[in-house]
Amino acid sequence: MSEFELIRRYFERAPKRTLLGVGDDCALLRPDAGLDLAVTTDMLVEGRHFLPDAEPRALGHKALAVNLSDLAAMGATPRWVTLALALPAVEPEWLEAFSAGLFALAARYNVDLVGGDTTRGAARTISITAIGEVPPGLALERGGARPGDDVWVSGELGGAALGLSHPQIPQAAKRLHMPEPRVELGERLRHLAHAAIDISDGLAGDLAHILERSRVGATIEYARIPRSADFGALKDPELEKNCVLSGGDDYELAFTAPREHRAELEALARELKLALTRIGTIHGGAARLAVLDAHGKPLAHRGGFDHFAKP
Ligand code: ADP
Ligand code: MG
Repeated sequence: MSEFELIRRYFERAPKRTLLGVGDDCALLRPDAGLDLAVTTDMLVEGRHFLPDAEPRALGHKALAVNLSDLAAMGATPRWVTLALALPAVEPEWLEAFSAGLFALAARYNVDLVGGDTTRGAARTISITAIGEVPPGLALERGGARPGDDVWVSGELGGAALGLSHPQIPQAAKRLHMPEPRVELGERLRHLAHAAIDISDGLAGDLAHILERSRVGATIEYARIPRSADFGALKDPELEKNCVLSGGDDYELAFTAPREHRAELEALARELKLALTRIGTIHGGAARLAVLDAHGKPLAHRGGFDHFAKP
């Protein structure tokens, strides 16, 4: 199969909301008048982010999900994506399943795959760029947290990291391989939250990014952090703490919002059928995160995940 046959067969689909999609030198996009564009890229590398035998359908889903998650964390509505793919060989079954996983998620959010690049490479590498739209002034930047804000998280944390250490637990494995980008939540937070981030590298590390950008501190209560029910049976508090505070790949949103919005956020949680939990508060002072245990004492923890951290 030639490069061009491969593209046509697996990645060329008639775009729904795009002037010109795959097949020309460039795609042509027309944003809605007056909206800002939010642009993000996330890459998955075999051997680093996934194993060679990773299920290709789930991989297609996840490669797109992690990008939609960044748009969600910005309060942007996803519209277009491009896909750059390096593959050691043309494997029709792998490509069929990978593209099916990617297009299934794209269809749910009306996202068009509008272009990309395909090349041979030593390890499978998947790089997606996603473009979304957000009304001017409403993007949820990391720098917007203010003293007095509540700190909130969506869903449950720690499940994806648990899926890595305990792949035999089905719910945890699902959290790791099939993350759900919180797109609707991101859109609805535009008028409610001051700052947001998606939790890709662990709550402690990702929340620290908000604190640095916003030049504020935060105190959160470990016991309030919602977590995967599977931890209950494991009775391994150290593993639980590492997964909940420092485990990556959950793709929930952490955000800060003024107290006045508590009732609206609780109503939003009911409407979206997605838990939204208040876990702490933002305060002035140094950009430090304090995690308190059930007795109000500081809890030691690892930071977040860092690809270039010294071992
Ligand atoms: P060019 O050489 O002009 O950059 P390519 O031959 O690389 O074009 O790609 C041909 C067309 O296919 C372009 O429209 C490009 O955006 C698209 N394309 C290439 N690879 C992919 C891919 N993996 N997914 C989606 N579109 C792709
Ligand atoms: Mg090209």
